[in-house]
Amino acid sequence: MFRPMRRANQALSAEECKSILERATSGVLALHGDDGYPYAVPVSFVYADGKLYFHGAEQGHRPDAVRRDPKASFCIIDADEVQPEDYTTRFRSVILFGKIRILEDKPAKWAALELLTRKFAPQHSEERRQAQIELEYPGTCVMEFTIEHMTGKKSRAG
Ligand SMILES: Cc1cc2nc3c(=O)[nH]c(=O)nc-3n(C[C@H](O)[C@H](O)[C@H](O)COP(=O)(O)OP(=O)(O)OC[C@H]3O[C@@H](n4cnc5c(N)ncnc54)[C@H](O)[C@@H]3O)c2cc1C
Repeated sequence: MFRPMRRANQALSAEECKSILERATSGVLALHGDDGYPYAVPVSFVYADGKLYFHGAEQGHRPDAVRRDPKASFCIIDADEVQPEDYTTRFRSVILFGKIRILEDKPAKWAALELLTRKFAPQHSEERRQAQIELEYPGTCVMEFTIEHMTGKKSRAG
């Protein structure tokens, strides 16, 4: 049911997509928002084993939308270099489709927070990161996005 890319010659390989997922720090999560309006919200993430993990507050538009409908899409812009002379841009992006859920199980939630803290504070000791998780855990909502379809695309100019 997922569409093929019309300009297949501009498609990134699965390996290129994966390395973007590993180096990018944020993207835009698209959800089924209020009253049928899509809700596209920027958020930090970590990628591991075919899944993305997000964290945030337990209440709000984002968790409400996730509880309403697990179908989601996520977009990462890896490059956007405007080329005024050519009236174009050199771009590289990845789009994912999948299902998102709120993790309720403590070990799974904790493990995702470990992945996030390792990615975003690699300079800190394990003890420091664990202490931060301990502090933030109550009141933190962790979401898991399981990738079902992934495409990457680059501009014709590369
Ligand atoms: C690069 C980046 C990384 C981020 N990483 C995280 C993260 O890891 N965790 C996290 O919790 N938050 C992060 N944020 C903030 C995030 O975009 C949301 O504001 C936050 O997750 C709360 O979302 P909500 O829908 O529950 O908020 P709510 O306050 O419930 O949203 C209500 C309304 O406020 C408006 N709104 C909410 N967020 C934004 C926004 N970012 N910009 C403009 N309007 C907005 C929308 O109209 C929305 O309908 C990040 C933002 C950016 C730009």
